Amino acid sequence: MSRNTTKIVKIGDKVIGGGNPIMIQSMTNTKTEDVEATVAQINRLAAAGCDIIRVAVPTKEAAYAIKEIKKQINIPLVADIHFDYRLAILAMENGADKIRINPGNIGSDERVKAVVDVAKERNIPIRVGVNSGSLEKHIIEKYNGVTAEGLVESALEKAKLIEDMGYDNLVISIKSSDVLMSVKAHELIADKTDHPLHVGITEAGTLLRGNIKSSIGLGLILNQGIGDTIRVSLTGDPEQEIKTAKLVLKTLGLRQGGIEVVSCPTCGRTQINLIKLANEVEDLVANYDLDIKVAVMGCVVNGPGEAKEADLGVAGGAGVGLLIKKGEVYKKVPEEQLLAELKNELDHWGE
Ligand code: SF4
Repeated sequence: MSRNTTKIVKIGDKVIGGGNPIMIQSMTNTKTEDVEATVAQINRLAAAGCDIIRVAVPTKEAAYAIKEIKKQINIPLVADIHFDYRLAILAMENGADKIRINPGNIGSDERVKAVVDVAKERNIPIRVGVNSGSLEKHIIEKYNGVTAEGLVESALEKAKLIEDMGYDNLVISIKSSDVLMSVKAHELIADKTDHPLHVGITEAGTLLRGNIKSSIGLGLILNQGIGDTIRVSLTGDPEQEIKTAKLVLKTLGLRQGGIEVVSCPTCGRTQINLIKLANEVEDLVANYDLDIKVAVMGCVVNGPGEAKEADLGVAGGAGVGLLIKKGEVYKKVPEEQLLAELKNELDHWGE
């Protein structure tokens, strides 16, 4: 897929835009003021594959906490600010690698300028975020409601406001919980700006609904070559957001590495506890950076055949499990040993 050409923006030691790999972001749900809990969550998310982390900065204490948090994490940190421009400045002074603001709710242009001046001085990128829930009145009136066109106009207006202040180290995000509106807005804005785009479906929902909405929305947008960094937003554990984001990118061929697990849907022929095994295999493979496919199949009738495409496979028999390599059954073990055998294979893969 050919990707839209956008400008390169540096966030800490990561780069987005310019055709670079799409970075995965998430946001902590700890109190940012609680340094210990926030650091622990960030480090867990980083281990799971989060490239850039965002934290909410609703108070001065949260802005000050950034300094301590930064000392104990290894990924760039974005400070998320609403309403109070002084918190944006304080967050930058305390080491934020990027800030996310909605200039529309920061107040006057003077206040936006005060933030921009500090960002410029320190060369800290600003994500200009617009959200369908907070679209300005004049735009809603102009477009007769909240529309993709209105979201784009609002985002571009705000980017221009900052550009006119002499700063263009910007990332743009347009968020809507309406998937198709979001897709349309990204299609429209991609032609109108070369600032990198942060893509996500906002308020997507709980695990199932959120995963489906995010996957469809991100899939339709990313598959057109649009988007430089993504966030899957779920009402749940942010670690799940990372898992989903990685799978979305891998499914679209936008990220290599990591084991792909295919598993059969189970049927009346299933002879082992396959649902449990498939979930255990998913958890197991998260610890390996091998670029291979592992098949988890429920029976010997179709299992080995269906596992042919995979590098490694397991299939259930009556009380036994089969290990399959490139479509060939090479070992029979008791069912309860299947996972350990698979782990052993992965540990020695390629030796
Ligand atoms: S692999 Fe076997 S158990 Fe799984 S769906 Fe196919 S036939 Fe059924």
